[in-house]
Amino acid sequence: MSYNKASCALRDSLKCLNLGYISYSLDKVGYNFDGTLNLKNGKVNVLHSPKQEFRWRAIADQIDKLHITGGHSQVKDNSIWKKLYQVDKRQVSYFNKNNTIVNKLEDVMPCHNCGVILPTQMIQVDHQQPQKNFSDYYFIKILRSMGLTVTGPTGAKGKLFLASPSPTVLPPLPPRGRDTGDVTYLKGTTSFNKWRLNPEGVEFVSVLNLHANALESVKTLCRDSILNLVPLCAPCNGNKSGLTKGYTL
Ligand SMILES: [Zn+2]
Repeated sequence: MSYNKASCALRDSLKCLNLGYISYSLDKVGYNFDGTLNLKNGKVNVLHSPKQEFRWRAIADQIDKLHITGGHSQVKDNSIWKKLYQVDKRQVSYFNKNNTIVNKLEDVMPCHNCGVILPTQMIQVDHQQPQKNFSDYYFIKILRSMGLTVTGPTGAKGKLFLASPSPTVLPPLPPRGRDTGDVTYLKGTTSFNKWRLNPEGVEFVSVLNLHANALESVKTLCRDSILNLVPLCAPCNGNKSGLTKGYTL
């Protein structure tokens, strides 16, 4: 079975800690440089305490609040995402069949890369961290926004969320202001410490790993997360194939 809520996956993982509030030696789960899970990483001591359990449950609840059910394109109906990316009603000009310009009031939003304002139905929803070659960068990205990596987020959305981890109050994000179709930002490198779990992150993932399918389910829930979905116009979304950021140690 797979879980459709991180809180349920965590609940069943916690049932595996059935000796009470003590320190457990668990199989240590970490990440390799290529974003794949490292399941043969030795052992980690995890203190199961009421305070720590409260923190783990809070992380799972945040993952659930940020998850988009029904597929990533459904994010266009999410009020938090719409506010974050500035969906608003504006006049849009059309030529009609009499060759006259008419204006219609429609929901529009800017491409987050170049800023062109388009009707929301013409905007594409992109996974900022896609799933490829079995990498879990999208999962680590969400954990980073919750303070579970060695170094914190550098993107505006992750920093906003870490500073105020309540998805309902995220302020509007300005677009990046790049030229339309400019994807050179994907050719840079980023510090691997952004993608390396800190001790608390290792504990959280190692606890989830206790119950069959719990970790896999939570990973999947993070792929379609408000924090991983960005609105782009077609040129800004279409020029990215084959480009991936490099990571430096
Ligand atoms: Zn664009």
